[in-house]
Amino acid sequence: MLKYKAEENGKTYVEVDRFFPSSKTCHVCLNQVGSLPLDIRRWTCQSCNTTHDRDINAAISLRDEGLRIISCGTRDQADRQTVRRSSRGRKKSSTTLVSG
Ligand SMILES: [Zn+2]
Repeated sequence: MLKYKAEENGKTYVEVDRFFPSSKTCHVCLNQVGSLPLDIRRWTCQSCNTTHDRDINAAISLRDEGLRIISCGTRDQADRQTVRRSSRGRKKSSTTLVSG
């Protein structure tokens, strides 16, 4: 339903792995904390010292993960570039100047 709605509006729907640890992943440096009890609302990344609001960080992490999926194909193939649009069949149009 969500997918349908998104595509209807010309948006791209991306499904992020439900086990993706969005709230535990620092959206700044992608460092993951080992554990984050549900009652912890704010936490500080040990790697880059950014203090995160749990939910906001989770939202940003999810968004970034979604964008990574779009640009990389799948999470596991992060290095592979997806080449979808080749320019085959498209000749450069030559410009004709008509003077008059
Ligand atoms: Zn960090």
